[in-house]
Amino acid sequence: MTVTANRLPQGDSSAIRTVGIVGAGQMGHGIAHVCAVAGYSVKLVDVAEEALAKAVSAIGKNLDRQITKGRITEDDKSLALGRIETSTGYAVFADADLVIEAATENEGVKKQILAKLCPVLKPETYLASNTSSISITRLGAATDRPGRFMGMHFMNPVPMMGLVELIRGIATAEETFATIRDLVGRLGKTPVSAEDFPAFIVNRILLPMINEAVYTLYEGVGSVESIDTAMRLGANHPMGPLELADFIGLDTCLAIMQVLHDGLADSKYRPCPLLVKYVEAGWLGRKTRRGFYDYTGEKPVPTR
Ligand code: NAD
Repeated sequence: MTVTANRLPQGDSSAIRTVGIVGAGQMGHGIAHVCAVAGYSVKLVDVAEEALAKAVSAIGKNLDRQITKGRITEDDKSLALGRIETSTGYAVFADADLVIEAATENEGVKKQILAKLCPVLKPETYLASNTSSISITRLGAATDRPGRFMGMHFMNPVPMMGLVELIRGIATAEETFATIRDLVGRLGKTPVSAEDFPAFIVNRILLPMINEAVYTLYEGVGSVESIDTAMRLGANHPMGPLELADFIGLDTCLAIMQVLHDGLADSKYRPCPLLVKYVEAGWLGRKTRRGFYDYTGEKPVPTR
Protein backbone atom coordinates (compact mmCIF):
# COMPACT_ATOMS: atom_id res chain seq x y z
CA MET A 1 0.00 0.00 0.00
CA THR A 2 1.37 3.42 -0.90
CA VAL A 3 0.69 6.51 1.19
CA THR A 4 0.82 9.99 -0.32
CA ALA A 5 3.36 12.05 1.63
CA ASN A 6 1.09 15.11 1.39
CA ARG A 7 -1.47 13.57 3.75
CA LEU A 8 1.01 13.16 6.62
CA PRO A 9 1.40 15.55 9.59
CA GLN A 10 3.82 18.45 9.10
CA GLY A 11 7.28 18.09 10.69
CA ASP A 12 9.85 20.74 11.54
CA SER A 13 13.45 20.26 10.41
CA SER A 14 14.74 23.69 11.50
CA ALA A 15 17.07 22.06 14.07
CA ILE A 16 18.95 20.35 11.22
CA ARG A 17 21.85 22.62 10.22
CA THR A 18 24.67 20.20 9.42
CA VAL A 19 24.26 17.33 6.97
CA GLY A 20 26.81 14.53 6.67
CA ILE A 21 27.03 12.43 3.51
CA VAL A 22 28.85 9.08 3.16
CA GLY A 23 29.97 8.33 -0.39
CA ALA A 24 31.07 11.07 -2.77
CA GLY A 25 30.09 9.35 -6.03
CA GLN A 26 27.57 10.80 -8.46
CA MET A 27 24.74 10.72 -5.89
CA GLY A 28 26.77 11.82 -2.86
CA HIS A 29 28.15 14.88 -4.60
CA GLY A 30 24.72 15.74 -6.00
CA ILE A 31 23.19 15.59 -2.49
CA ALA A 32 26.10 17.68 -1.13
CA HIS A 33 25.45 20.23 -3.90
CA VAL A 34 21.73 20.73 -3.15
CA CYS A 35 22.26 20.78 0.63
CA ALA A 36 25.05 23.38 0.36
CA VAL A 37 22.99 25.59 -2.00
CA ALA A 38 20.08 25.37 0.47
CA GLY A 39 22.36 26.75 3.21
CA TYR A 40 23.28 23.59 5.12
CA SER A 41 26.78 22.96 6.36
CA VAL A 42 27.91 19.76 4.57
CA LYS A 43 30.45 17.09 5.59
CA LEU A 44 31.22 14.81 2.65
CA VAL A 45 33.10 11.57 3.36
CA ASP A 46 34.45 8.87 1.04
CA VAL A 47 37.00 6.06 1.45
CA ALA A 48 38.76 7.31 -1.68
CA GLU A 49 40.59 10.69 -1.63
CA GLU A 50 40.31 10.66 -5.41
CA ALA A 51 36.50 10.43 -5.23
CA LEU A 52 36.43 13.50 -2.95
CA ALA A 53 38.58 15.56 -5.34
CA LYS A 54 36.39 14.50 -8.28
CA ALA A 55 33.26 15.33 -6.29
CA VAL A 56 34.36 18.88 -5.46
CA SER A 57 35.31 19.51 -9.08
CA ALA A 58 31.96 18.11 -10.31
CA ILE A 59 30.03 20.26 -7.81
CA GLY A 60 31.94 23.35 -9.05
CA LYS A 61 31.06 22.54 -12.69
CA ASN A 62 27.41 21.86 -11.85
CA LEU A 63 27.16 25.13 -9.90
CA ASP A 64 28.62 26.93 -12.96
CA ARG A 65 25.90 25.36 -15.08
CA GLN A 66 23.27 26.73 -12.68
CA ILE A 67 24.88 30.21 -12.91
CA THR A 68 24.70 30.05 -16.72
CA LYS A 69 20.99 29.20 -16.44
CA GLY A 70 20.45 32.17 -14.10
CA ARG A 71 19.35 29.95 -11.20
CA ILE A 72 22.13 31.04 -8.80
CA THR A 73 24.76 33.80 -8.67
CA GLU A 74 28.60 33.65 -8.45
CA ASP A 75 28.21 34.59 -4.77
CA ASP A 76 25.81 31.67 -4.18
CA LYS A 77 28.42 29.40 -5.74
CA SER A 78 31.28 30.51 -3.51
CA LEU A 79 29.05 30.40 -0.42
CA ALA A 80 27.89 26.87 -1.31
CA LEU A 81 31.45 25.62 -1.93
CA GLY A 82 32.53 27.22 1.36
CA ARG A 83 29.92 25.17 3.21
CA ILE A 84 31.33 21.81 2.03
CA GLU A 85 34.04 20.05 4.04
CA THR A 86 35.48 16.75 2.77
CA SER A 87 37.18 13.97 4.70
CA THR A 88 38.10 10.28 4.55
CA GLY A 89 37.22 9.80 8.24
CA TYR A 90 33.89 9.73 10.08
CA ALA A 91 35.02 12.06 12.92
CA VAL A 92 33.68 15.07 10.94
CA PHE A 93 30.16 13.72 11.54
CA ALA A 94 30.35 14.42 15.30
CA ASP A 95 28.28 17.59 14.96
CA ALA A 96 26.02 16.39 12.10
CA ASP A 97 22.25 16.61 12.69
CA LEU A 98 21.51 14.27 9.79
CA VAL A 99 23.79 11.80 7.97
CA ILE A 100 22.80 10.44 4.56
CA GLU A 101 24.53 7.24 3.45
CA ALA A 102 25.09 7.31 -0.33
CA ALA A 103 27.83 4.71 -0.83
CA THR A 104 27.96 1.78 -3.26
CA GLU A 105 24.71 -0.22 -3.66
CA ASN A 106 25.79 -3.25 -1.61
CA GLU A 107 24.06 -4.31 1.59
CA GLY A 108 27.27 -5.55 3.26
CA VAL A 109 29.11 -2.29 2.50
CA LYS A 110 26.20 -0.20 3.76
CA LYS A 111 25.85 -2.21 6.98
CA GLN A 112 29.59 -1.88 7.68
CA ILE A 113 29.39 1.87 7.13
CA LEU A 114 26.39 2.21 9.47
CA ALA A 115 28.10 0.17 12.19
CA LYS A 116 31.24 2.32 12.01
CA LEU A 117 29.30 5.54 11.77
CA CYS A 118 26.85 5.26 14.67
CA PRO A 119 29.36 5.52 17.56
CA VAL A 120 30.52 8.92 16.23
CA LEU A 121 27.04 10.48 16.05
CA LYS A 122 25.08 12.48 18.61
CA PRO A 123 22.20 10.35 19.99
CA GLU A 124 19.64 12.65 18.36
CA THR A 125 21.22 12.63 14.89
CA TYR A 126 18.94 11.37 12.14
CA LEU A 127 20.29 8.78 9.75
CA ALA A 128 19.09 8.07 6.19
CA SER A 129 20.12 5.86 3.30
CA ASN A 130 19.95 6.83 -0.35
CA THR A 131 19.73 3.15 -1.34
CA SER A 132 17.88 2.48 -4.59
CA SER A 133 16.51 -0.87 -3.53
CA ILE A 134 17.76 -2.38 -0.25
CA SER A 135 15.38 -2.97 2.69
CA ILE A 136 15.25 0.08 4.96
CA THR A 137 14.08 -2.15 7.82
CA ARG A 138 17.19 -4.36 7.49
CA LEU A 139 19.56 -1.38 7.19
CA GLY A 140 17.84 0.32 10.15
CA ALA A 141 18.34 -2.82 12.24
CA ALA A 142 22.10 -2.49 11.62
CA THR A 143 22.11 0.89 13.39
CA ASP A 144 21.78 1.91 17.05
CA ARG A 145 18.76 4.11 16.15
CA PRO A 146 16.18 2.36 13.91
CA GLY A 147 13.55 4.91 15.02
CA ARG A 148 15.64 7.76 13.63
CA PHE A 149 16.55 5.92 10.42
CA MET A 150 14.74 5.96 7.07
CA GLY A 151 15.18 5.83 3.29
CA MET A 152 15.77 9.10 1.45
CA HIS A 153 16.04 8.21 -2.21
CA PHE A 154 17.23 11.10 -4.36
CA MET A 155 17.11 10.93 -8.15
CA ASN A 156 20.06 11.34 -10.51
CA PRO A 157 21.23 14.04 -11.32
CA VAL A 158 20.25 15.38 -7.91
CA PRO A 159 20.45 19.13 -8.69
CA MET A 160 18.07 18.70 -11.64
CA MET A 161 15.56 16.11 -10.46
CA GLY A 162 12.57 17.20 -8.40
CA LEU A 163 11.69 13.97 -6.58
CA VAL A 164 12.85 12.34 -3.35
CA GLU A 165 11.23 9.02 -2.41
CA LEU A 166 10.82 8.68 1.35
CA ILE A 167 10.74 5.18 2.82
CA ARG A 168 9.95 4.18 6.39
CA GLY A 169 11.39 1.02 7.88
CA ILE A 170 9.10 -0.84 10.27
CA ALA A 171 10.80 0.90 13.21
CA THR A 172 11.01 4.43 11.74
CA ALA A 173 9.33 6.92 14.08
CA GLU A 174 6.59 9.14 12.64
CA GLU A 175 8.51 12.19 13.93
CA THR A 176 11.60 11.15 11.93
CA PHE A 177 9.54 10.76 8.78
CA ALA A 178 7.79 14.13 9.21
CA THR A 179 11.09 15.93 9.98
CA ILE A 180 12.88 14.54 6.94
CA ARG A 181 9.87 15.24 4.76
CA ASP A 182 10.04 18.88 5.87
CA LEU A 183 13.76 18.99 5.07
CA VAL A 184 13.12 17.64 1.56
CA GLY A 185 10.78 20.62 1.00
CA ARG A 186 13.51 22.99 2.19
CA LEU A 187 15.82 21.47 -0.45
CA GLY A 188 13.24 22.46 -3.06
CA LYS A 189 12.27 18.84 -3.81
CA THR A 190 8.93 17.03 -3.81
CA PRO A 191 8.63 14.02 -1.50
CA VAL A 192 6.71 10.86 -2.36
CA SER A 193 6.17 8.19 0.24
CA ALA A 194 6.86 4.55 -0.65
CA GLU A 195 6.53 1.44 1.45
CA ASP A 196 9.60 -0.66 2.23
CA PHE A 197 9.36 -3.20 -0.61
CA PRO A 198 12.33 -4.05 -2.86
CA ALA A 199 13.31 -1.04 -5.04
CA PHE A 200 10.36 1.06 -3.75
CA ILE A 201 8.38 2.84 -6.52
CA VAL A 202 10.64 4.44 -9.14
CA ASN A 203 13.11 1.59 -9.55
CA ARG A 204 10.47 -1.14 -9.19
CA ILE A 205 9.03 0.24 -12.44
CA LEU A 206 12.13 1.67 -14.16
CA LEU A 207 14.69 -1.12 -13.70
CA PRO A 208 12.63 -3.99 -15.18
CA MET A 209 12.21 -1.76 -18.27
CA ILE A 210 15.98 -1.20 -18.48
CA ASN A 211 16.62 -4.93 -17.93
CA GLU A 212 14.13 -5.72 -20.71
CA ALA A 213 16.00 -3.30 -23.01
CA VAL A 214 19.21 -5.25 -22.30
CA TYR A 215 17.37 -8.52 -23.13
CA THR A 216 16.16 -6.88 -26.35
CA LEU A 217 19.81 -6.19 -27.22
CA TYR A 218 20.97 -9.65 -26.01
CA GLU A 219 18.40 -11.43 -28.18
CA GLY A 220 19.37 -9.34 -31.20
CA VAL A 221 15.98 -7.69 -31.58
CA GLY A 222 17.70 -4.35 -32.05
CA SER A 223 21.07 -2.59 -31.84
CA VAL A 224 21.96 -0.17 -29.03
CA GLU A 225 21.11 2.72 -31.30
CA SER A 226 17.82 1.30 -32.56
CA ILE A 227 16.62 0.39 -29.03
CA ASP A 228 17.40 3.85 -27.66
CA THR A 229 16.00 5.68 -30.69
CA ALA A 230 12.86 3.52 -30.57
CA MET A 231 12.17 4.40 -26.94
CA ARG A 232 13.09 8.09 -27.32
CA LEU A 233 10.88 8.66 -30.34
CA GLY A 234 8.36 5.86 -29.87
CA ALA A 235 7.63 6.28 -26.17
CA ASN A 236 8.76 9.92 -25.88
CA HIS A 237 11.35 9.10 -23.20
CA PRO A 238 13.97 11.83 -22.81
CA MET A 239 16.76 9.20 -22.82
CA GLY A 240 16.84 5.71 -24.30
CA PRO A 241 16.92 2.87 -21.72
CA LEU A 242 20.52 1.82 -22.52
CA GLU A 243 21.77 5.41 -22.37
CA LEU A 244 19.95 5.70 -19.05
CA ALA A 245 21.49 2.44 -17.78
CA ASP A 246 24.97 3.82 -18.57
CA PHE A 247 24.04 7.02 -16.77
CA ILE A 248 22.80 5.22 -13.63
CA GLY A 249 25.79 2.83 -13.62
CA LEU A 250 25.50 -0.78 -14.77
CA ASP A 251 26.71 -2.08 -11.38
CA THR A 252 23.90 -0.18 -9.67
CA CYS A 253 21.35 -1.44 -12.26
CA LEU A 254 22.48 -5.04 -11.69
CA ALA A 255 22.43 -4.65 -7.91
CA ILE A 256 18.84 -3.35 -8.06
CA MET A 257 17.71 -6.22 -10.34
CA GLN A 258 19.31 -8.71 -7.91
CA VAL A 259 17.44 -7.14 -4.98
CA LEU A 260 14.15 -7.34 -6.96
CA HIS A 261 14.86 -10.95 -8.00
CA ASP A 262 15.85 -12.09 -4.49
CA GLY A 263 13.27 -9.99 -2.65
CA LEU A 264 10.22 -10.75 -4.79
CA ALA A 265 11.27 -14.26 -5.92
CA ASP A 266 9.73 -13.83 -9.36
CA SER A 267 11.65 -14.94 -12.47
CA LYS A 268 10.43 -11.85 -14.34
CA TYR A 269 13.13 -9.91 -12.45
CA ARG A 270 16.00 -12.20 -13.63
CA PRO A 271 18.95 -9.92 -14.47
CA CYS A 272 19.87 -10.20 -18.17
CA PRO A 273 23.09 -12.24 -18.58
CA LEU A 274 24.49 -9.50 -20.83
CA LEU A 275 24.11 -6.97 -18.01
CA VAL A 276 25.95 -9.38 -15.69
CA LYS A 277 28.77 -9.78 -18.28
CA TYR A 278 29.21 -6.03 -18.71
CA VAL A 279 29.53 -5.58 -14.95
CA GLU A 280 31.99 -8.52 -14.75
CA ALA A 281 34.07 -6.83 -17.45
CA GLY A 282 34.15 -3.59 -15.42
CA TRP A 283 32.11 -1.83 -18.13
CA LEU A 284 29.94 0.14 -15.74
CA GLY A 285 28.72 2.91 -18.06
CA ARG A 286 29.65 6.59 -18.01
CA LYS A 287 31.64 6.37 -14.79
CA THR A 288 34.15 3.96 -16.37
CA ARG A 289 33.77 5.54 -19.85
CA ARG A 290 32.42 2.33 -21.33
CA GLY A 291 29.07 0.61 -21.09
CA PHE A 292 26.50 0.24 -23.87
CA TYR A 293 28.29 3.29 -25.32
CA ASP A 294 31.97 4.22 -25.47
CA TYR A 295 32.51 7.63 -23.87
CA THR A 296 36.21 8.10 -24.64
CA GLY A 297 35.64 10.36 -27.65
CA GLU A 298 33.71 13.58 -28.05
CA LYS A 299 30.40 11.82 -28.71
CA PRO A 300 29.17 8.53 -27.17
CA VAL A 301 29.57 5.67 -29.68
CA PRO A 302 27.33 2.55 -29.40
CA THR A 303 29.36 -0.59 -28.61
CA ARG A 304 26.87 -3.05 -30.21
P1 NAD B 1 29.04 5.64 -7.22
O1 NAD B 1 29.68 4.36 -7.60
O2 NAD B 1 29.10 6.81 -8.14
O3 NAD B 1 29.63 6.14 -5.81
C1 NAD B 1 29.74 5.35 -4.67
C2 NAD B 1 30.80 5.97 -3.78
O4 NAD B 1 30.80 5.29 -2.52
C3 NAD B 1 32.22 5.86 -4.35
O5 NAD B 1 32.83 7.14 -4.42
C4 NAD B 1 32.93 4.94 -3.34
O6 NAD B 1 34.32 5.28 -3.16
C5 NAD B 1 32.12 5.23 -2.07
N1 NAD B 1 32.26 4.21 -1.04
C6 NAD B 1 32.28 2.85 -1.18
N2 NAD B 1 32.46 2.26 0.01
C7 NAD B 1 32.55 3.27 0.93
C8 NAD B 1 32.75 3.30 2.33
N3 NAD B 1 32.91 2.17 3.02
N4 NAD B 1 32.80 4.50 2.96
C9 NAD B 1 32.66 5.65 2.26
N5 NAD B 1 32.48 5.69 0.91
C10 NAD B 1 32.43 4.51 0.26
O7 NAD B 1 27.53 5.27 -6.86
P2 NAD B 1 26.24 6.23 -6.91
O8 NAD B 1 25.61 6.12 -8.25
O9 NAD B 1 26.58 7.57 -6.35
O10 NAD B 1 25.28 5.43 -5.91
C11 NAD B 1 25.37 5.61 -4.50
C12 NAD B 1 24.06 5.17 -3.85
O11 NAD B 1 22.99 5.94 -4.39
C13 NAD B 1 23.71 3.70 -4.10
O12 NAD B 1 23.05 3.20 -2.98
C14 NAD B 1 22.75 3.79 -5.28
O13 NAD B 1 21.87 2.72 -5.36
C15 NAD B 1 22.00 5.08 -4.94
N6 NAD B 1 21.36 5.75 -6.07
C16 NAD B 1 21.95 5.76 -7.29
C17 NAD B 1 21.32 6.41 -8.35
C18 NAD B 1 21.96 6.45 -9.71
O14 NAD B 1 21.28 6.83 -10.69
N7 NAD B 1 23.22 6.12 -9.85
C19 NAD B 1 20.09 7.04 -8.16
C20 NAD B 1 19.52 7.04 -6.87
C21 NAD B 1 20.16 6.38 -5.83
